[in-house]
Amino acid sequence: MSSADDPPDRPGHGHGHGHHTVAELFPRTHADAPPRFVIKPAPVPPPTTDHPPDPEDVDAALAPVVASLAGRRLAVLTGAGLSTDSGIPDYRSPGAPPRHPMTHQQFVSSAAFRRHYWARNHLGWRHLHAARPNAGHVALAAMEDADLLTGLITQNIDLLHLRAGSRTVVHLHGRYDTVVCLSCGKTVSREEHDAVLVALNPHFGRFEGVADLEVAPDADVVLESTADFEVADCSRCGGILKPDVVFFGDNTPRHRVEAAYALVDDADALLVAGSSLAVMSGLRFVRRAAKAGKPVAIINRGATRGDDLATVRLHAGTTTALPLLAAALTAP
Ligand SMILES: [Zn+2]
Repeated sequence: MSSADDPPDRPGHGHGHGHHTVAELFPRTHADAPPRFVIKPAPVPPPTTDHPPDPEDVDAALAPVVASLAGRRLAVLTGAGLSTDSGIPDYRSPGAPPRHPMTHQQFVSSAAFRRHYWARNHLGWRHLHAARPNAGHVALAAMEDADLLTGLITQNIDLLHLRAGSRTVVHLHGRYDTVVCLSCGKTVSREEHDAVLVALNPHFGRFEGVADLEVAPDADVVLESTADFEVADCSRCGGILKPDVVFFGDNTPRHRVEAAYALVDDADALLVAGSSLAVMSGLRFVRRAAKAGKPVAIINRGATRGDDLATVRLHAGTTTALPLLAAALTAP
């Protein structure tokens, strides 16, 4: 892997992150009040008119995709668009509400930021834990069962591919169900860590079962104030604990990138599903396949940064398109 044409991931690049104070990001409206864990109503997203609607006849529109992929083993790259129909919003799509995701630098440099992050994750992870795969995930698992795939590379941390039955999955940006110590590397399950946080924050339990929180793909939820939330440090060394997910400003771990490249190199073609390829961590696999002369098919609502490299583009939702694609490719 060349570092010259493979710059570090900067998912937040160009969005002006990193210049906000805690007070700006999380304004406290009850400065002199006792502990408050106020859940704000989810903002209503503006209409998503920036991308074209699904074709009237998706099956017909899919024909060029089928033609470019038939008879080939595929590597598949998936993004947030695949999970929106499982109730996990995609904050990078056109029309999505603006957000200020926490950066790795903010997380490691400020106890206040960590408190805010963990308080919000404390509620948000349950939402991911309860999410169920949709027809798009199921179709990709069926394609792997039919031996059509070298494997999946996903930018999602929600584990919905595994729940749908996919076996070969590279979780490029990590997984929500694991917590890692930034000092000694010890990992614990998010479920195990939850028991610790519940014991430290018994008053938070009253929000269990709230179903309609706005929850971001990184298990963040919107809370107005989290100043009294108690975080826990590593039980072995006292270090900082962080969900094992790639934050804005993080690099994707090298071993995962290499595993993902191997899936692309072993494949005859690349299918991108539900990703706008907004960050380098995904786009580089499209470049890799295109450079090797392999067909690249992209199924996504709206434009992607890989469109110029694509052999074929289909503007459609993955929940509709992937089952049709799986049926076409597995037909005798
Ligand atoms: Zn540790």
